[in-house]
Amino acid sequence: MKTVIIGAGLAGLSAAYHLKDNWVILEKESKVGGLAASGQSKGFTFDKTGHLLHMHNPYTKGWLIEGLLKNQMNTHARDSWIHSQNVFTRYPFQANTYGLAPKTLTECVVAFLKTRDKIRKPSADPHFHQWCLETFGRGISKHFMFPYNKKLWLIDLKKMTTEWIRNFVPIPSREEVLYGALVDQKKFFGYNASFYYPKSGGIQALPDAIAGELSGAELYLDTEISEIRWKEKRVVTATGSFSYDWLVNTSPLNLFLGRLSPKMPAALERAGKKALQSTVVYNLNLGITNPRPTPKHWVYFPENKFAFYRIGLSSNFAPNLAPPGTSCFYVEFARWAHQSFNYEKMLNHTLAALRHFGWMRPEDKVVMTHWNRIDPAYVVFTKERRAFLPQAFRFLEANNIISTGRYGAWKYSFMEEAILDGKAAAEKILKS
Ligand SMILES: Cc1cc2nc3c(=O)[nH]c(=O)nc-3n(C[C@H](O)[C@H](O)[C@H](O)COP(=O)(O)OP(=O)(O)OC[C@H]3O[C@@H](n4cnc5c(N)ncnc54)[C@H](O)[C@@H]3O)c2cc1C
Repeated sequence: MKTVIIGAGLAGLSAAYHLKDNWVILEKESKVGGLAASGQSKGFTFDKTGHLLHMHNPYTKGWLIEGLLKNQMNTHARDSWIHSQNVFTRYPFQANTYGLAPKTLTECVVAFLKTRDKIRKPSADPHFHQWCLETFGRGISKHFMFPYNKKLWLIDLKKMTTEWIRNFVPIPSREEVLYGALVDQKKFFGYNASFYYPKSGGIQALPDAIAGELSGAELYLDTEISEIRWKEKRVVTATGSFSYDWLVNTSPLNLFLGRLSPKMPAALERAGKKALQSTVVYNLNLGITNPRPTPKHWVYFPENKFAFYRIGLSSNFAPNLAPPGTSCFYVEFARWAHQSFNYEKMLNHTLAALRHFGWMRPEDKVVMTHWNRIDPAYVVFTKERRAFLPQAFRFLEANNIISTGRYGAWKYSFMEEAILDGKAAAEKILKS
């Protein structure tokens, strides 16, 4: 049985690895990795914003950390922060209000404790705004959850559903919140408390290692799928076409559905247009001559006076990502695709902020700037999305198409999940 895989990101590579043979991967870019690919400029290596590897599953840990990439990864304890009201507090905000102005801190803690005393049952299907109020109370919502998430997701939080929250938003206990208001606590919360990062080469080392294990068929780079003739079980590229028994799609679902020929049933097609919304992330990678601006790994910025929502320092994960005597920042801005973005203005805005924080000293110089435009970056969680996806996947699977990975399945997920998605797709095909 022959499988064609669209995309050599982590999901596509993992699907091929687990199929073992009789697969073909078609990838539009000239290297493997997708979102987990790294770039180089002027001696710097950078990812498409920070790409830190969190491993929770014993299978992936055994295969990759203890196997393929053995001795090639460093383990880091997360050192992440929030900057608001001119103060840096530890991540997550909800458990670490220590250091904030007494009025803010009191608002946060008192309202949180009230949510724990509530007599009303939580709403059955709250929108994200409601969920924040019910889970964290007004103070934490007002000072972090609302402004930060509005900046990241762009959408009205009352239109946003909450199924993505799973392991992305830690919920502390009342003792932890109280303790974290009184003490600079160093307890770790959340799914990314520690992470792995390659000792060299950036996160590209991960897809490269998986690609190095592939045999049993062909990986075509620089090969973009332009049309999917699903009735004939054939995909078309600029240079030819490939027939399949099974098709695994890991390219963005909205674009994939747009390439179906003939189109999906009209009602499904209409629903898809409303359901599949996403944001774009503009990622500035910036090399400067300050070798150690701060030991922090990354910082979240909820306030609107900063146009970016997060800044990280990749040279703090792996010093050799930056030449000796320099460091490398990644800066993230969110926009809708139709919005304009002024690169020069945002670069100057970032430099002013780095100087303000003392991360760039008066004598420091910028030695590298590089921009990535990530589109899609975050898929937007709405009721329309939730209603549409099961119908779309039923239609596709009935036609031997599995659409998976972060954008194939149109979800919010991390690298390990993409790898497991590819494995699950392969297992489904092998069992069929
Ligand atoms: C800003 C940001 C930060 C992130 N940070 C982290 C992090 O710190 N840790 C973490 O674990 N995860 C992180 N992630 C998530 C992680 O990047 C993804 O979950 C994972 O890389 C997705 O892999 P994938 O294979 O599903 O998709 P992709 O990597 O998108 O792969 C899809 C592939 O399909 C190819 N393709 C698309 N269209 C076509 C076509 N028509 N023909 C042929 N090929 C095509 C693409 O070029 C791409 O290579 C982050 C994501 C974002 C957006």
